[in-house]
Amino acid sequence: MAPRTSPDLPPSLWVDTAAPATPAPPLVGPAEADVAVIGGGFTGLSAALHLAEVGKRVVLLEAAEPGWGASGRNGGQVNPGWKVLPSEIKRRYGAERGERIARMANGTCDLVFELIERFEIPCDALRPGFLQASYGGRGRKAQENWAREWSAYGTEVELLDRDGFAALIGSDKYDGGMRDARGGNLQPLSYARGLAKAAAWLGAQLHGGSPATEVTRQGAGWQVTTPEGRVSAEHLVIGTNGYTDELWPGLKETVVPAPSFIVASRPLSQNLAKTILPGRHAVSETRRVLFYFRLDRDDRFVFGGRGKLFDSVDHGQMGHLKAEAVRLYPQLGDIDWDFSWGGYVAVTREHTPRLMRLAPGAFAGLGYNGRGVAMSTMMGKQLALAILGEDPDMEIEQLRAIPLHGLRQIGITWHLLSGAWLDRLDRLR
Ligand SMILES: Cc1cc2nc3c(=O)[nH]c(=O)nc-3n(C[C@H](O)[C@H](O)[C@H](O)COP(=O)(O)OP(=O)(O)OC[C@H]3O[C@@H](n4cnc5c(N)ncnc54)[C@H](O)[C@@H]3O)c2cc1C
Repeated sequence: MAPRTSPDLPPSLWVDTAAPATPAPPLVGPAEADVAVIGGGFTGLSAALHLAEVGKRVVLLEAAEPGWGASGRNGGQVNPGWKVLPSEIKRRYGAERGERIARMANGTCDLVFELIERFEIPCDALRPGFLQASYGGRGRKAQENWAREWSAYGTEVELLDRDGFAALIGSDKYDGGMRDARGGNLQPLSYARGLAKAAAWLGAQLHGGSPATEVTRQGAGWQVTTPEGRVSAEHLVIGTNGYTDELWPGLKETVVPAPSFIVASRPLSQNLAKTILPGRHAVSETRRVLFYFRLDRDDRFVFGGRGKLFDSVDHGQMGHLKAEAVRLYPQLGDIDWDFSWGGYVAVTREHTPRLMRLAPGAFAGLGYNGRGVAMSTMMGKQLALAILGEDPDMEIEQLRAIPLHGLRQIGITWHLLSGAWLDRLDRLR
């Protein structure tokens, strides 16, 4: 089957099966707003929605089209929490701020499903919980800690042994796993388009094909220039994550873009699909260099993971993904893989997201470390609170570049190499 194309989006399963896009024509001429939002992924769209909802005049500028970045390309796994546990959050941010952040992190999935329900977003959303497969003793220990810490926040986390987990996912290749009731899965591009539609319905002005090329101070506010237009706004929000360019000096150096790739099979037969993820969960792993997988609404097997060394988003090698999928599920045999694509996640030094005040009235939110479906939606809300002058749960930080950012490729290479070896060692211990 020839993939359906979009003028801007690279071909993917999600482009082929997404809900229609809300019109977002390029900005032409001058515009005025209370808030100019740069970036049309979940972060920017959620910020636009939450600001428009309280009556702010919002103009959102997206270089390509809403959902073009990671938001329209990801695995659609609505993952709960952060990569670090509440105890670590409190250690880093202090008891009081840390507690607020942990409570906020506890509620990220709720926010996603609440928005989907409230704005009737058609995005094949399911909430059977999130599964994480454990790998070796390190993985089991991490899940015991996860269960203990998050259950203190009222979360239902179930730890499963090898057989119990195999019954849930249809593969016995893991040492066990856990089910966290907060999570779920969705069609990510449809979700992005649904947020765009809701934001537009609330009054936000959305412009695709409108890369912000310059930001300058204008009186007490900001002027954002695009190839054919300009926006004057009191406030500015930047949500460009792994696609951050040189627009704001130093912002690009706060994250490291790392490519992630996905392959999707042809639809499985009903009999085959029943042997794989019968509960239609989304699954991730405790491995350092991890894989993630799920079925889509048409029973295609959707399998993602990091690239090989020196892959770029447009030239990823997908062989290792297909091989791992068949290793986990030998019943897939030599199934055809209809789609493959990639995108950039944004990694931060501390593996936690960041909300930054760039200048008076200007904020950026980014750095989801590959777990941003729920958290970027929440970040949009947090950015809106910051703009409104209400104390958000997130700590507002200053812009801080990653030291030796220029050597980032070496860091990614090192992570891929050493992580894969350490993962293997974990299994032997
Ligand atoms: C392959 C892949 C799989 C993933 N799987 C999952 C998953 O299953 N679960 C999960 O939780 N997370 C996952 N993630 C991460 C998640 O997708 C991201 O964290 C999230 O989408 C980030 O949203 P965002 O809005 O901050 O950034 P993006 O969606 O990347 O949007 C940034 C936007 O900014 C625009 N932009 C950049 N510069 C400018 C400019 N100068 N002017 C105007 N616009 C500009 C870009 O065009 C882009 O559309 C995955 C990511 C990838 C790439």
